[in-house]
Amino acid sequence: MKSAESPPRPDALWHPFTPMQAFSTEDAPIIAAGEGFDLIDDAGRRYLDGISSLWCNVHGHRVPQIDDAVRGQLDRIAHSTLLGLRCDVAEEFAAELVRITPPNLTRVFYSDSGATSVEVALKMAFQYHRQKSSGAERRTTYLRMGDAYHGDTVGTVSVGGIDLFHGVYGDLLFDTVHVPCPAGLHLPEGHDRDSYTRWCFDEARRLVIEHHKNAAAFVIEPLVQGAAGILVHTPGFLKHVRQLTSEYGIPLICDEVAVGFGKTGTMFASEQEEVRPDFMCLAKGITGGYLPLAATLATDEIFEAFLGEPHEGQTFYHGHTYTGNALGCAAGLASLRLFEERDVLANVGELSQAISESLAPLEDHPHVGEIRQKGIMTGIELVADRDGMKPYDAELRMGHRVTLAARKRGVIIRPLGDVIVLMPAVAMPPAQVHRLCEVTVEAINEVTHRPV
Ligand SMILES: *Cc1c(COP(=O)(O)O)cnc(C)c1O
Repeated sequence: MKSAESPPRPDALWHPFTPMQAFSTEDAPIIAAGEGFDLIDDAGRRYLDGISSLWCNVHGHRVPQIDDAVRGQLDRIAHSTLLGLRCDVAEEFAAELVRITPPNLTRVFYSDSGATSVEVALKMAFQYHRQKSSGAERRTTYLRMGDAYHGDTVGTVSVGGIDLFHGVYGDLLFDTVHVPCPAGLHLPEGHDRDSYTRWCFDEARRLVIEHHKNAAAFVIEPLVQGAAGILVHTPGFLKHVRQLTSEYGIPLICDEVAVGFGKTGTMFASEQEEVRPDFMCLAKGITGGYLPLAATLATDEIFEAFLGEPHEGQTFYHGHTYTGNALGCAAGLASLRLFEERDVLANVGELSQAISESLAPLEDHPHVGEIRQKGIMTGIELVADRDGMKPYDAELRMGHRVTLAARKRGVIIRPLGDVIVLMPAVAMPPAQVHRLCEVTVEAINEVTHRPV
């Protein structure tokens, strides 16, 4: 216990993914409220939420229908355990998730973050092979993509590949096999775009064949690798991976934590290539951006490998205290209703077009190497020099400076290194998305000293 006289410390909070020394000098706004697609600080200043509160907000803030659903649930119960008890709203939401995801997915296992939803799929896949073969088969590795991001727990860092985030923890991790694709601005030596694409398809095939006997699963972010810097896969790649993994008996885990709930233009990215994964991981947008809830969906075939008499030990021994939290499920149900009532997916189509049009002034910008976009997911990669696509020195923190310049103009964005990321809520009106893009262009011009 601290003494009663010690004053309260305003700096008690340690922020995630944040260099705290620099942060303490930056005068970041203190968010005290929200309304629609704006965040409001403690002095009443408004900011457009250009990254949907880190990729999870869907219909805006303080949405009456979701607020009411959460309040209504509060009047019944905020939380009870799913360990040994059922819960009406958790069952109802699970049934809805099964209804809207690919038809082979029939079982929902809840957890509370994107990382845990992937961790659950990794452990289920591992245990599935042992149990379906009565212990004969022990698969001990996973196939994954280069620069993948699946979360920050030790298991999900093991199947991730972003050095900036994961470099420190190498000694803690288990081994994986990675398909060394996709690439951003810099293709491996000796490749042009076409030859590189063919090579990626061939490498995926070669690695699946080489490792299929020991791979518990293949884990992939379908269509777009978000945290890698909005890297968009070649059309057909996901389908190719599904065909290979089916042919060689490897369960496929589609991590839809970032791309799910409309961001690529369809409710789930896997739909666009008619892929039916064995596991689908959902989080971020699942509650409309209200509460920490996640889900791992699995097939009957996976589920059945966990049946048996209790003493046989086939149970999936995993679960979190707040698994299937009732408030989160109530928010999730309300969010799904709004998706349908307001035809949010049609809005994504409009926003996607509005973004490409409003960012057109950056196309020949001397310090923009590439603009990558799929649906509303947008990455603008800054370079020191377009000839040779030379990157800026990391210590210049160019991406970060652009976000500070945008903040001065009342817009919140957040970069991944020198990739400026725009991730508006999928239900944001086009006019606000237009403003988001305009301010981003101005901020990039200011920081790169491009005369306008
Ligand atoms: C954000 C993200 C995660 C991790 O989700 P958290 O809720 O932050 O744990 C996992 N996978 C992908 C693809 C993500 O973008």
